[in-house]
Amino acid sequence: MSRSEELFRQAVELIPGGVNSPVRAYGNVHEIPRFIASADGPYISDVDGNTYVDFIGSWGPMILGNNDKRILNSVAEAAGKGLSFGAATEAEVEMAKLVCDLVPSIEMVRMVNSGTEAVMSAIRVARGFTGRNKIVKFMGCYHGHSDAMLVKAGSGVMTAGIPDSAGVPAGCTQDTLSAEYNNLDSVQELFDRYTEEIAAVIVEPVGANMGVVLPEKGFLEGLRAICDKYGSLLIFDEVITGFRLSIQGAQGYFGVQPDLTTFGKIIGAGMPVGAYGGRKEIMKLVSPVGKVYQAGTLSGNPVAMAAGLTQLKILRDTPDFYENLNANGDWFYTEMDQILTDHQIPHCLNHIGSLGCVFFTEETVRDYVSAKTSDTVVYAKYFKYLLNHGVYMAPSQFEAMFLSGAHTRERELKKTLEVIDACCSELK
Ligand SMILES: *Cc1c(COP(=O)(O)O)cnc(C)c1O
Repeated sequence: MSRSEELFRQAVELIPGGVNSPVRAYGNVHEIPRFIASADGPYISDVDGNTYVDFIGSWGPMILGNNDKRILNSVAEAAGKGLSFGAATEAEVEMAKLVCDLVPSIEMVRMVNSGTEAVMSAIRVARGFTGRNKIVKFMGCYHGHSDAMLVKAGSGVMTAGIPDSAGVPAGCTQDTLSAEYNNLDSVQELFDRYTEEIAAVIVEPVGANMGVVLPEKGFLEGLRAICDKYGSLLIFDEVITGFRLSIQGAQGYFGVQPDLTTFGKIIGAGMPVGAYGGRKEIMKLVSPVGKVYQAGTLSGNPVAMAAGLTQLKILRDTPDFYENLNANGDWFYTEMDQILTDHQIPHCLNHIGSLGCVFFTEETVRDYVSAKTSDTVVYAKYFKYLLNHGVYMAPSQFEAMFLSGAHTRERELKKTLEVIDACCSELK
């Protein structure tokens, strides 16, 4: 790994932490980050020529596997016509139509350039629509790095948000209220107190930024009911779950309809894309037709649209794509769970479809507090062992792992299970 080491040494002098997004610095696992040179199918290769089975998939976008030739060709074709025009294009209409067709709760959609932007804009629209300011979010849910969303946990559910980052004025988070994931009472308490001040509840329908935390039966339905009762909007942040759990995202998977939805990651197939959408009466408030301002010089970029459109159409048109992917996920995570159990490693393996996460704890992980009981020292050992044996997992306990359609049981998944089996003796 001498080349990665050398690049990292240079990078830390030039880029904060040597990286352009914090988790890449491997800070939580005390390792030198591997600098990636290329990726193909279920594999990713670093600048020193090491190849790994890839369980990150660019944090989700590579649901078809890395370097899909069909997507590459569509990108090359679009690029050949010009990288950007700053004007309306046919691809944007096609993308909007596709998203509205695929996701029943969406009648109108606006493209942006990241998940962060999608959430920031959706919240502005929710506030504009309701004429209210307060937002309920859940501890441990990540919604990008916009000021109002950088609130983790207050000391209790009744405390108004305290910024989680320097540089965020308290005024920016004073309307951000924190509730506990999978705890409807904590949400109801906030509504009891703030009744008609709450513009929206925003939630990851499957928590995937505190490790993976599944919504318990009735949780999402309960949020829908509370929002309806108080005239607040329900926002599903489907930046990870969108087009991952099913072609309709988590909302299709669980059968709960939000008012607004945010997308990122998969929708751009690896290009920087985000989107937010919902009912027409809400989305009609967005500029230039409505009073909620939101804009983007490169939004709906033609090359990015080509990549996203090609990927979404493949996902839509491949028979049984999600059935197969989710079945592989079920099989793999169940096997992995069994191996850890056989070796008597205390753990909680949460998974749904192709998303999964192992916590090294005796507790059942169902929210932020229980997620935090995981032994991150054991996780770091696990991560390091796997990395050194050709398996590339998230360099943090509190991130998900992602299977793609390119991972096969016979090869990559079986190999990974063997490495995990061998790893267990090191974990005790
Ligand atoms: C990644 C993520 C975001 C932020 O998206 P960026 O493209 O990184 O800005 C927002 N919400 C969720 C649920 C995410 O996983």
